[in-house]
Amino acid sequence: MQSVNENQRKAGRISLVGAGPGDPDLLTVKAMKAINSADLIFFDQLVSAEIRALFPQGKPAFYVGKQKNKHSFTQEQINRLIVLKAQQGLHVVRLKGGDPFVFGRGGEELLQAASAGVEVDVVPGITAASGCTTAASIPLTHRGLSQACTFITAHAEKDLTLDWSALARLDQTLVIYMGISRASFIRDQLLCAGMKASTPIAIIENGCRQNQREILGCLNDLEVLVEVHAVTSPAIIVVGDVVLFKAQLQRAQASASAHVSGSDDDDVGEALLSRPCA
Ligand code: SAH
Repeated sequence: MQSVNENQRKAGRISLVGAGPGDPDLLTVKAMKAINSADLIFFDQLVSAEIRALFPQGKPAFYVGKQKNKHSFTQEQINRLIVLKAQQGLHVVRLKGGDPFVFGRGGEELLQAASAGVEVDVVPGITAASGCTTAASIPLTHRGLSQACTFITAHAEKDLTLDWSALARLDQTLVIYMGISRASFIRDQLLCAGMKASTPIAIIENGCRQNQREILGCLNDLEVLVEVHAVTSPAIIVVGDVVLFKAQLQRAQASASAHVSGSDDDDVGEALLSRPCA
């Protein structure tokens, strides 16, 4: 074990690491390497219990997320804390749900570290929009259904300054982070901006976790669906025709199981597979 003096002599550093949406199998190899080599880990609320269980035994790991009725760290305190620990010569891993740079305030932590002259690297993670929709078999883009996709947050420190008419007008997929407690506001804004009440929506709660739930419906019912199904955080709201893909998939699966094996299609598959590679 190193003495405090030795630690002070070696240069510390910070790794801002994305932990993905919750499934430990979706952690990157690079994230796992950082976790293993860290002297200490600061993690937040979105880092699932399954991922925390992968922290090496005895590794100092501290929760710095929000806690109801208890003292929570402010973002400024976290920024200062990670820099301070790195300046003491430690390799600090700041582990954050999803990707550190998608509504994760990773940019602020990076700037703080950089301006203190501390070495810092950022490890990307799978963001909720991507991980949760894919796990729910909803493609973010799909030929004929959506050619673009926008991630938005329904939560802002001051006022939300989103251009709802632009969001409603573009024929695209919208993924809304932190939107559950503002479901009625989101619905009203999109409807007022001209989006059709029948626009398909999906709510994905605890995406990429064992308790993942998918609730499908239409924009008009967004608030009711959140209430009736008692949706809790973390959850994303997906708005757009890509949600219809799920029905298309179910039809394809149903017709496949009704399909008699040994059909012409199977012959085509066999012929393709037996062709020599170019
Ligand atoms: N940096 C994170 C997002 C942090 S904001 C990322 O890239 O994913 C927190 C919001 O992310 C939550 O309120 C929720 O809207 C969404 N979120 C994160 N993990 C999620 C999960 N496993 N399932 C559903 N939504 C999730």
